[in-house]
Amino acid sequence: MRRKLVIGNLKMNGSITANQKLFAGVMAGVADLRNADYALCVPYPYLCQAQSLMQGSNVAWGAQNLCANEDAALTGAVSPAMLVDYGCTYVIVGHSERRIQLHETDDTAATRFNAAIKAGLTPVFCMGESKEERESDWTEYVVGRQLDSIIRRYGAELLTKAVLAYEPLWAVGTDIPATPEQAQEVHHFIRKRVARCNAEVAENVRILYGGSVQTENAPALFAMPDIDGALVGRCSLEAKAFVGICQAANQV
Ligand code: PEP
Repeated sequence: MRRKLVIGNLKMNGSITANQKLFAGVMAGVADLRNADYALCVPYPYLCQAQSLMQGSNVAWGAQNLCANEDAALTGAVSPAMLVDYGCTYVIVGHSERRIQLHETDDTAATRFNAAIKAGLTPVFCMGESKEERESDWTEYVVGRQLDSIIRRYGAELLTKAVLAYEPLWAVGTDIPATPEQAQEVHHFIRKRVARCNAEVAENVRILYGGSVQTENAPALFAMPDIDGALVGRCSLEAKAFVGICQAANQV
């Protein structure tokens, strides 16, 4: 039985003052919600704050990217070990905003995925098709290619230490969420594809849906058999909205 997981992706938002309020509100809101798991992925400068405020609570924290290298002459990069130093559980890998705006590729995402696992972090590996790709009926081709970029290199077994996230680009930040049926169809495809390599891993891997998840649409999404939680952007910036999604996960 897979436990639901709700992860907030704060992206490039927040401040010390705003985070204090957000973290406190989320911790208070989920303190008694024991049936699911919760986390916030914060910008690097706030990892220390996340660690000092959230340790001991049932809210984990993580980062939104990492560099695959350890200790290197690489200005501006942050290594897996540095994230471990700050108590991160999760790290988002291959988010579409980084793939598109920062030219990350299947290759770089796969290398980061492996580096995260080697360091003991849980990568949240993002996949998803654009609007044009969906309209051309390429969804399975694109998502399958992204998934294969890690399975082919590292094997399906590594997915026991990872979380997958289906985030259709046309739903991220748009207020046009996938319907529960649309999301379920792709989640089922992803699980079947993992099952081709290892049925047990497929049964246990958590696949999150991301793209305009809100308190209102979360229950119907979470009722789908292959949707194991959510990766939440905008609604993770406000404690009440994020806690509403966590409550929906806790109730399933
Ligand atoms: C995201 O960027 O991961 C995301 C799901 O954003 P939003 O919830 O704002 O659509």
